[in-house]
Amino acid sequence: MNNWNNLIERLLYMTGKHEAAPAWALTMKLSEEVGELSEIMLHELGHLHHKDKEWKDTPIEEVADIMNVVLGLLAVHYPDKTPEELSRELLVAMIKKGNKYGRIIGAAPDILI
Ligand SMILES: [Mg+2]
Repeated sequence: MNNWNNLIERLLYMTGKHEAAPAWALTMKLSEEVGELSEIMLHELGHLHHKDKEWKDTPIEEVADIMNVVLGLLAVHYPDKTPEELSRELLVAMIKKGNKYGRIIGAAPDILI
């Protein structure tokens, strides 16, 4: 198991065991985090001049927030699945959806194997 897979499973385990928010609230939290990513991207692309604030998180950190909330959402929504099962199903779905995305953008068909 590589470090990335190990991290995903540990995050799923952590959120499945400790996240107290229900799945609907995490879905709303996801929207909040996407909004934060949108805001920092607009700022970095030269917009939002009217906002006088300290930009504390980078786009990469906002994406990490999004991914953490998504993993928590999955762990809470599927309490009967183990972190290993969820991680494996997510990997399969990422490859399936990644291949679909690749076809749309014209990537080589075997790029994800
Ligand atoms: Mg955030």
